[in-house]
Amino acid sequence: MKDKNNSISIDIDNNGVANLSFNLLNEKVNKLDQNTISELEKAINIIDGNKAVRILLFTSQKENNFIAGADINEIKNLSNQNETIAKLNQANQLFNRIANLKIPTIAVINGSCLGGGLELALACKYRVAIISDKTILGLPEVNLGIIPGFGGTQRLPALVGLTQALQMILGGKPINCSLAYKIGLVDLITHQSFLNANLSKFVCEILENNNKFLQKQQQAIKNRYWQEFFFKKIIFYKAKKNILNATKGNYPAPFYALEVIKRTYKKPLNQGLLTEQEAFVELAHSSIAKNLIELFFIQEEVKKQCTSNFSIDNAALVGAGVMGGGIAWLFANKNIDLSLKDINYNAIATGYQQVLKILQRKNKNTEQQILKISPTLDYQGFNTANLVIEAVVENTAIKQKVLQEIEANTSQTTIIASNTSSLSISELSNALTNPGRFAGLHFFNPVNHMPLVEIIAGNKTTNDTIEKLLAITKQLGKTAVVVRDVAGFLVNRILLCYLNEAAYLLQENVSISAIDNIIEEFGMPMGPFLLADTVGLDIGVKVAQSLQQAYGSRMQVATILDSIRSTHPNMLGKKSGCGFYLYENNTKTKTNPQINTILQQLDLPNYNQQIDKNMVIARCIYTMINEAAKCLQENVIANHRYLDLAMIFGTGFPAFRGGLLCYADSVGIANIVDSLQKLNAIYGERFAVSELLLEMSKNNRKFYS
Ligand code: NAD
Repeated sequence: MKDKNNSISIDIDNNGVANLSFNLLNEKVNKLDQNTISELEKAINIIDGNKAVRILLFTSQKENNFIAGADINEIKNLSNQNETIAKLNQANQLFNRIANLKIPTIAVINGSCLGGGLELALACKYRVAIISDKTILGLPEVNLGIIPGFGGTQRLPALVGLTQALQMILGGKPINCSLAYKIGLVDLITHQSFLNANLSKFVCEILENNNKFLQKQQQAIKNRYWQEFFFKKIIFYKAKKNILNATKGNYPAPFYALEVIKRTYKKPLNQGLLTEQEAFVELAHSSIAKNLIELFFIQEEVKKQCTSNFSIDNAALVGAGVMGGGIAWLFANKNIDLSLKDINYNAIATGYQQVLKILQRKNKNTEQQILKISPTLDYQGFNTANLVIEAVVENTAIKQKVLQEIEANTSQTTIIASNTSSLSISELSNALTNPGRFAGLHFFNPVNHMPLVEIIAGNKTTNDTIEKLLAITKQLGKTAVVVRDVAGFLVNRILLCYLNEAAYLLQENVSISAIDNIIEEFGMPMGPFLLADTVGLDIGVKVAQSLQQAYGSRMQVATILDSIRSTHPNMLGKKSGCGFYLYENNTKTKTNPQINTILQQLDLPNYNQQIDKNMVIARCIYTMINEAAKCLQENVIANHRYLDLAMIFGTGFPAFRGGLLCYADSVGIANIVDSLQKLNAIYGERFAVSELLLEMSKNNRKFYS
């Protein structure tokens, strides 16, 4: 018998094996949207009580995807709490019905099985997964500021125990199929080529003796339960401590999930589902969830900028320093052969050390990846590279010479990119005879942590080059934004205003640690002084000086920064053990007393201003908002949404605030303009308000309508 709707088909064979298969029309992945849930209800009506059905399989016809989760658009559009409750009830009643079916049920997981998809699989009696790196299982809801809403907080801990379930639910990170098998989340794993044989065998065995399998499963559950029984309190305590460390209390969803599980573990399912529902409803209508969901959609939009299928298997890199090492790791990690050139083997060894450090931190099998990288002192291997990245020292003349050498040693179609953080791409391209295939490709430090890459088009870069670089960054797993070739490009231009302003605050006797603490409390991953020390004072001040050169006195570098560089050239930050802080083994110990001595020797103006927490935020954060508005005015980036994403992915601006300009909306543009105008009256042109903000304030406009 066959029955087919838009997303679900049912096939019942002569042996009584029913295959309920998901294949959402016109979509790349299956989602549990409203329509699919309704179709699933109808499908279960056909199966439930049907004497011809002895076992039910849930399968997917999508490649590498079982079900990706609930439809996030529908979550975004939930208009009121009653609507949310009604939708959760409908799904939960359906999943309960599936869980209570008298026949055995098996979810056959052939790829991503996330959120609602895993919750459906958990409502089945058994789960079979195909061995592949595309097969991932997880409950990533906390990343969107919500918690699982279709029973995930109930059925996952009940099946795999507290420790594993808490890790998956509170961390929001999916696991691979071998771990899923090890923790008892799936009952069988098989290679795709043996799927039919192994699944048929599993089905036959279950049909022969379902009780034997259920008893085995129940015994494993019991064992896990007793193993944890005496440690429950410690498990919950540790979980809370981990969330506090990871979120600094700024993201409520993991705390809610923890509380739900704590209150409902081993309690009756219906009671647990109700507690889960209450928490879900509260979170789903919070501003933090709205911000995180919006961010998800911006990410999706940015990904869609890439329309090309271009990919590379061979690349080359000149410069094996801090950035070169990180970039080399990235290519090796993505299985792309890489020739790595520097001026001597010592320099190349530094690059290799970087790669090893990252691999060791990630506990990865190093040999295979290290072998992807071939060291060279000449341009050996460059003639077959599809892409060459230049990452040598930040000096126009040296870079131009290196670019000419690259051009002479590569084919006409090779894309050439510079990782410069401040030099003009158009000016660098003057060294090339074919500048159309040259662009900026600005990775952020550390490359293994920072998801953003800025792609910079010079005045001669062709659209084809930009398209190819978008495809390559996608292949590398990075998020790319295309920005104009202006000094500092987008992210550094905005970020440097903030670092510089923190230095001005220091000049007015606000302490380093007070400023860093206020900014960290605001949600930045680290305060401006710790960041400056981490980037390196040599690099940071150099970029600040080049911005002053480009934008004039409104970006005047704070005297203390120039002074540190000229009087204490070895005070470089973390890498030299001293900067604004002192460091032992790369860990900050205390603020550096030398900074006060340097300050005392400077002839600094006295503004007689009372500086409190709000003032620190206004001066550091509103300054960034003002510069961001100037960037929008100058079309440095396509729109405010991409700018917010770039600041979150490039600087760690707190995602729970929705991004820099989303935060500006929440404060009110008129309030920001008012503060900037007052600061402008005291401190001058650093705070001159952008035309865009003035216009928005006048017309009562927001960035996000
Ligand atoms: P680095 O000083 O650590 O490394 C530069 C490397 O280039 C050195 O190994 C040096 O030996 C090599 N080199 C110099 N001249 C060369 C030549 N003619 N041929 C081959 N190799 C040569 O510098 P870095 O911090 O890795 O910066 C590299 C580039 O990346 C710069 O343009 C910088 O602005 C940019 N960048 C740096 C950061 C950062 O935080 N460090 C972030 C983003 C971008």
